[in-house]
Amino acid sequence: MNTEFLSTAVAPLVYIASTMLFVFGLKGMTKVKSARRGNHLAAAGMFLAVVGALLELGLVDYRWIAIGLIVGAVVGAFLAIRVQMTEMPEMVALLNGFGGAASALVALSVVWNDVVEKDAAETMAHTLRGGAADAVTIALSILIGSITLTGSVVAMLKLKGKLKKGQPILLPGRHGINLVLGLGAIGLTAYAGFVATGAEGVTLATLGLTGVALLLGVLLVIPIGGADMPVVVSLLNSYSGVAASMAGFVVGNPLLIVAGATVGAAGLILTQIMCVAMNRSLLNVLVGGFGATDGGGGAGDQVMEYHNVRSCGAEEAAMVLEAAESVIIVPGYGLAVAQAQHTVRELASELEKRGARVTYAIHPVAGRMPGHMNVLLAEADVPHEQLIEMDLINSEFKNTDAVIVVGANDVVNPVANKDPGSPIYGMPILNAHEAKSVFVIKRSLGAGYAGIKNELFEMPNTMMIYGDAKKVLQDLVREVKDL
Ligand code: NDP
Repeated sequence: MNTEFLSTAVAPLVYIASTMLFVFGLKGMTKVKSARRGNHLAAAGMFLAVVGALLELGLVDYRWIAIGLIVGAVVGAFLAIRVQMTEMPEMVALLNGFGGAASALVALSVVWNDVVEKDAAETMAHTLRGGAADAVTIALSILIGSITLTGSVVAMLKLKGKLKKGQPILLPGRHGINLVLGLGAIGLTAYAGFVATGAEGVTLATLGLTGVALLLGVLLVIPIGGADMPVVVSLLNSYSGVAASMAGFVVGNPLLIVAGATVGAAGLILTQIMCVAMNRSLLNVLVGGFGATDGGGGAGDQVMEYHNVRSCGAEEAAMVLEAAESVIIVPGYGLAVAQAQHTVRELASELEKRGARVTYAIHPVAGRMPGHMNVLLAEADVPHEQLIEMDLINSEFKNTDAVIVVGANDVVNPVANKDPGSPIYGMPILNAHEAKSVFVIKRSLGAGYAGIKNELFEMPNTMMIYGDAKKVLQDLVREVKDL
């Protein structure tokens, strides 16, 4: 088979197969049961995409590709093995950033190859094969890719609590600065594509655009704090898809356009779901700077002032649980920290053996990433039918005998319904406080991610059980078995 045939006839077929695998993969990932298969399909699609690109390009230097593959695979495998489940959001944020960086680099390489190296005397719009359309997509790819890179790095540092403990950083006149930078980026886009000429002019204009976009990424994310970070991460995920799609236009690769657009759309839909879950409008997110309230931001080590809090031990709790006909388990971030998913399932099985109906209430932003609780509980083989989404289970709490809150805090904080001054005001919560008895398993009265007091802990139907979630659950299993 000659290279011409491989490039023009085989490569497009490989791209179509790859696109289908992406679509089926994504579809598979919409359900917990098929998520693993979906992931494998999408990975196979990505492999085919690489094969297709190599066939299309024909004679390329495989040494560079091999070096890239080895370095990427080693770093990826190392990170995947090392990263803790609780650090996944940071990892996802960083990967979004890499996606943006890759797209920006593709666009910059086209500028370098086709304009700068050739020392073209004309503007980019005149020099590139696709004319004005190419000049605009190159600029957009650099702009969105660079914003995604630095925005994601800032999001990662904030999630890690490395930037002012995740608190918002409010620069004076930040909206004005962002507006000037935004207008500057548009101006530089026009200048780089349609005004700058010659190798030097084009180089300066594109580097200027890259610099402004990198700065904009930082400034757009630093004022956002606390509980709003999941929305930002999923929006940056969408940005990385849009940047990849633009890069697809730049290099004329239809698969990259489709894959990027799919990621862009999926990220935007997830952003919308997160916005609804956290009661934020998408416009707020797009304008940036929301969530800039004082309380927000990973203040898990703060201890608030509480009155009349009641606590009990595993033995007392086990007696109530043993008699309960209906039990709802509310998992939260602490469940992930303690890696107590298997133990919580064991407790559920013991209670079911004694006739109780056990379900799990899943809040859309429980934990530190979308779907965090679903993933953890699926790992412990909790039947999918027992995981009930917030909207469906909220009316059940008032008819429930006992609720066990395992390492959750913000997602069961009734203040979200009442106090307009609270950083989580308006966020829908799980109505755990409506149950007859509520057991809250956590190590102390320390705050959750939003850094605020939780009124649930002071309620007369609530009992705190202090300790590491896994240890307390093990004690509960033992006590229930002993009864
Ligand atoms: P929270 O962060 O509100 O609370 C978690 C609680 O777990 C803490 O109060 C802590 O209390 C407890 N905890 C920690 N370690 C352990 C342990 N080993 N054993 C027992 N308890 C432990 O978690 P929620 O899940 O209720 O809420 C999620 C929050 O995170 C929301 O504010 C959400 O907006 C935010 N967020 C969500 C993201 C997402 O996509 N899901 C992403 C980023 C942020 P103590 O120290 O006393 O043990």
